[in-house]
Order: sequence, then C-alpha cells, then structure tokens
Amino acid sequence: VIALGQAEHSVITTCAYCGVGCAFKAEMKGNTVVRMVPWKDGKANEGHACVKGRFAWGYATHKDRITKPMIRARITDPWREVSWDEAIAHAASEFKRIQAKHGRDAVGGITSSRCTNEEAYLVQKLIRAAFGNNNVDTCARVCHSPTGYGLGQAFGTSAGTQTFKSVEQSDVILVIGANPSDAHPVFASRMKRRLRQGAQLIVADPRQTELVASPHVKAAHHLALRPGTNVALINALAHVVVTEGLTNEAFVAERCELKSFQQWRAFVSLPEHAPEAVEAVTGVPAAELRAAARLYAQGPNSAIYYGLGVTEHAQGSTMVMGIANLAMACGMVGREGVGVNPLRGQNNVQGSCDMGSFPHELPGYRHVADTTVRAEFEAAWGVELSPEPGLRIPNMFDAAMAGSFKGLYVQGEDIAQSDPNTQHVSAALEAMECIVVQDIFLNETAKFAHVLLPGSSFLEKDGTFTNAERRISRVRQVMPPLAGLADWQVTVKLANALGYPMHYDHPEQVMQEIAALTPSFRGVSYGKIERLGSVQWPCNEGTDEAGTATMHVEGFVRGRGRFFNTRYVPTDEKVTRRFPLLLTTGRILSQYNVGAQTRRTANNQWHDEDRLDIHPHDAQERGIRDGDWVGITSRAGQTVQRARVTDRMQPGVVWTTFHFPESGANVITTDSSDWATNCPEYKVTAVQVSKVMQP
Ligand code: SF4
Repeated sequence: VIALGQAEHSVITTCAYCGVGCAFKAEMKGNTVVRMVPWKDGKANEGHACVKGRFAWGYATHKDRITKPMIRARITDPWREVSWDEAIAHAASEFKRIQAKHGRDAVGGITSSRCTNEEAYLVQKLIRAAFGNNNVDTCARVCHSPTGYGLGQAFGTSAGTQTFKSVEQSDVILVIGANPSDAHPVFASRMKRRLRQGAQLIVADPRQTELVASPHVKAAHHLALRPGTNVALINALAHVVVTEGLTNEAFVAERCELKSFQQWRAFVSLPEHAPEAVEAVTGVPAAELRAAARLYAQGPNSAIYYGLGVTEHAQGSTMVMGIANLAMACGMVGREGVGVNPLRGQNNVQGSCDMGSFPHELPGYRHVADTTVRAEFEAAWGVELSPEPGLRIPNMFDAAMAGSFKGLYVQGEDIAQSDPNTQHVSAALEAMECIVVQDIFLNETAKFAHVLLPGSSFLEKDGTFTNAERRISRVRQVMPPLAGLADWQVTVKLANALGYPMHYDHPEQVMQEIAALTPSFRGVSYGKIERLGSVQWPCNEGTDEAGTATMHVEGFVRGRGRFFNTRYVPTDEKVTRRFPLLLTTGRILSQYNVGAQTRRTANNQWHDEDRLDIHPHDAQERGIRDGDWVGITSRAGQTVQRARVTDRMQPGVVWTTFHFPESGANVITTDSSDWATNCPEYKVTAVQVSKVMQP
C-alpha cells in the first residue's frame, strides 16, 4: 500500500468507463498508480469525476488479469500457456485453414468500444485487408447502432450535435430513455447545475429515475410511458407541436427538405397521434403530453439527451428519427443550448463507430460499395477490398448455426454475456471452429475460445478515445503492459502472421493514417491534442483549430435535414396472462456494464448483486416482500434474483441491471431487434415474477 501524497510523477489520461470521457491525472509512484485525480483542465469534466473513474481503476492490476497467451484444441480441453509467437501463429493458421476449407467469408471479427481509436481501426483493417471480407462489427450493434442509422438519415451524421457544456445554455432539457445520474454522472451534475439555475426538465422514462425527483431538482413533467411505446409518445409530442402552430417555420424553410416536412406534418396531424388517442397506448396522461410538447417547443433553447431507452427497441431507429423530426420542426438544432445528443454508454463507442467498425462502412461512415472511397483505401492499404457488406454480429451467430461461419476474432467484448438470448449465442459460439479472444480477463466468451490473447488496460497503452461530444482525448501509457504487448501490437502481429504486412512503431503512426483517410478526422494529430488538451471532430480546414463544438450550424451534414414518417408499431413482446409484466433493464452508478472491471474493485461494496425492482402493488399481489428471492420467467428463459419493492416503478413494469452474469438478465431478454440495425430489444421483455425459495 502506498500512502497518498507519495506520488513521484503524474500522467494525464482519459477515463475508460463511460462516454463522458473525463480527463484524469494518474498520480504515480514508479509504475504504480497511487490515485486518479480528475483533471481540472479536462474539457469534458472540468475537474469533476464519479465513483467509477475516481476509484475503480484497481482492476488493471487485479490477480485475475490474464498475462500469458493460451491455446487449446477443444473448448473442453484445459488451457495451455504458450509464447506470444506460438499463440499468434496458431490463431493465424487456424483462420487460414478455415478460409481455405469454408471460404473467405467464413471468418470475421469484433472491435471494441473499450479499446482506443487506433486499436479499433487496426482490427477493422485486419479484417478487411487480411481476411479479405467486411465481416466486422462492434458492440455498438447492441447499443447505439440505431443512432447511427436514424441520425445519419435525418442529419447526415450520427454524431451528437453539441458539447456537454452546451447544456448550460438550455432553457428546457428533455431526457428520453436515459439515466445520466447513474450512467453519465459527471454530465448529470452539469445538467443539474443548469436545472438549479431555473431550466425546466422533462423526463420520458418508465421508471422514476433519480433525475425525476432528486434532492436538488424536480422534473416539470415525468412522462412515465410503458416500455415499447416510445414512438407513439414522440408522435404525440409532434402532433401537439404541429396542430398548435408551434413549429419553427423559418428554420424548416431554410434548413430542411420541405416535401419531407409537409408529408411528416400531415402524418403527425392525424387524430390517431393526438395525446388523447395515445394516452391508452403509452399510459401517459394526455394533459402531460400536451404540456411537455408546449414546454419543449417554446424553449427558447431546448435540448434532447437520450440513451439506450431509445435505441434498444424493435423501433429504435424509428424513435431516433422521431426525435430528429421533433428537434428540426421546432428549430432546435444548430446553436448552443439545443440539439440532439445520444449519451454514449462506453468510453469509445463514438470512436469505434468512426473507425469503420460496421460491416457496411469504411472509416468515416463511407459505404464499402462506394468505388471512389474503396479505391482510396485500396491505394493506401495495398489490397483489393470487398464491395459487399459483411455480417452483423447477430448474422454471424445465425451463420455459425447454419455452418457457414467458423472463425471469430473478438477484441475486448464479452459477447457471450452482453448479447441477448444467451442460449442462442452460446450455441453459435460452440458451433465455431476457432474463436480468438483478446481480453484482460477470462470472460464468459473465453469459455468458448480456442486462443486467448491477453489484453491491456487503458493504463498500459497509448492512443485516443472519442467521447459522446466527438472529443478526441489522449490515453497515455502509465505502466508497461502486464503481458508485454498492448492490444494494438497484438493486432499488428496477427495481421503479419496472416500474411498481411502491418508496420507501426507507435499508435501515433496509426492516427496519422486515420487522419489521412478519414474526412472527419482530418486535422487530428497527437501534436495538436498535446497542445490543446483535446479536439472535437471535425477539426479540419475551415473549423476552429480545437474543432467543432456545435454541429449543423449553417446546414446539415447531408445538406437539408430530412423528416421521416415514424409509424408506431407495437412490439412483439406482448403481456399475456402467462407473462403479465414488462421487464426493462438499466445501469446503476457504482457498477459498469457486465461488471468485469468494477466488480474487481472496492466499488462492489455499494452494489454486489442485480435486483429486480417491482412496484408495491405487483409485489403484494404475488406475496413478495422486499429482499425476497423471486423467479423471473420470460418466453426466452428464466432466472432468479432478489426483489426490491419500490414505488419508483410503475405498476406492471419491473426493472433490473445487467452487471452480474449469474443474475441472468440476458438469459431472459428476447432476440427481437431493431428493424434497421438489429440492435436488440433489451428494454422490453414480457415476464412473470413469482416468489421462490433462496436458490
Ligand atoms: Fe469516468 Fe464517466 Fe465517471 Fe467521467 S462520468 S469518471 S468518464 S465513468
């Protein structure tokens, strides 16, 4: 134990948890971190931090870290420790064998939103250049892929439109399907400061989140909708705006496609979208919907922040487009204090998407079928690239079950635990011939792996992360990689072993290549970040040197903003007598995602199990008391948790977190998914809950 205050030097780096991207000073004694101090000059956090970034970094040196590469022939065999060279050579020969036997498209890979931009870029490059296909996807598939689709269609880019600081100019803040107090705490504090100054808050969420009625702020309107009815709700808000003459005609005329606006206006004007008609669908009183719509439209500066409660639905992409419709119709885009802002869950989900981690897009969101774009990459990478979009993660699982997909390279994602319908995922992984897992821990996916390549934590490597406001910040190595290689070096070695030469001595060279090939990253360099602390893309010619704080100021990236008719389609997850409750899921403050990191820190003391929140009325009906063990059964599976009886829930809706794999949240979620992107519908599962004996 090293006493505080004994630090010998410090290194500025970026938190590896959520999409706020707080900057920290890692205070060091030798190669040991003494403490993490939030950096006052960090533009995303200005000296603030939450309990994850501040205290939950000890996992980096936890005894469970994998420090030796391992291989095995079958997943029932014991692991055998081998050298890096042997592990890499084995992985490469297995991938080559599979491609020779089953064809070029029988292998693929998954990039990580926990890794750096440079690492995500290298993995997708390996798959495209060395595997020769576009079978690359990322964990954004299961979180914000509908943002990519929806905002891309409406605005021309999926990026958040504002800086976090912009909220300080907002008069009205509309939070939809997000719980920033737990999931983006430092931004939530900034938001609350503005609310204490008098800004008005509207929260659309099935639960009474902390933001709805915290000790310091109170929402003017809590639209406690039923899970799965987002699109009905947004259309009702739009109906009020349109029929009460609250649209910003000047903004629409100057900035949007008029024909699409007129069609949309006629669509949302239909009586079926009136709050009085929608009340029975959403469960939100019509008067509340009307008042909230008026408040948002009259601003004068109204901003929307949304999270996975918007995207993780069968109509996730539709809802994102519905949000864009509302913002454009009210003229709430293109200046400070307004905008449409996806709150990204993971530290680098924006960056991994920017880096070409989707099966249809090269870096910079450019379609693989575009011959001009492909020619640019072909010239730079020295290979011919496939013009065919590759497989998305769920398609990889389906193809594995069908026998046509046999090999997978997974960097920093625990798909066996974080993807829906665990039983299907497990069966697909078991059906593959070679799974290469690169991770810092022996995670659930590793149980199906044949090659285990030790990963490196954010403290062990150089690179960059891009946060939810498009801010690119440096990640700086503070200690050597425990296993001897950083993640980017492992990918480089694997590419070379596959016969595709990659030569980089430092991630800075990778960033130079990214900046040369990716329009939104043009002008980004380590030197500039060193000088300015961070930059916000785009930061190329014609923009401020530090980048672009507000997007779409004079025109949308696609030219004119486009409206879409967003028809509400009820989810397939219907409540029945057998499954009478709707389950929805979320996060809590001290834990992070599947808990791989936070559970290996002292943060575990605050929350050491997933619990099922249930309304007192539903609990009483079932004879359930606070703390009782309950069985949760859905059409997909069943699990057991302890109950927490709370009136934060509405009757008929239950809620749990997914931080503990043994609690089985994803055993019971369905495999319904968004129509446009296959993002799973984690947020709506019909279940039955009953009291059981302690397991
Ligand atoms: Fe890290 Fe997010 Fe907490 Fe900031 S708010 S310290 S980025 S987890």
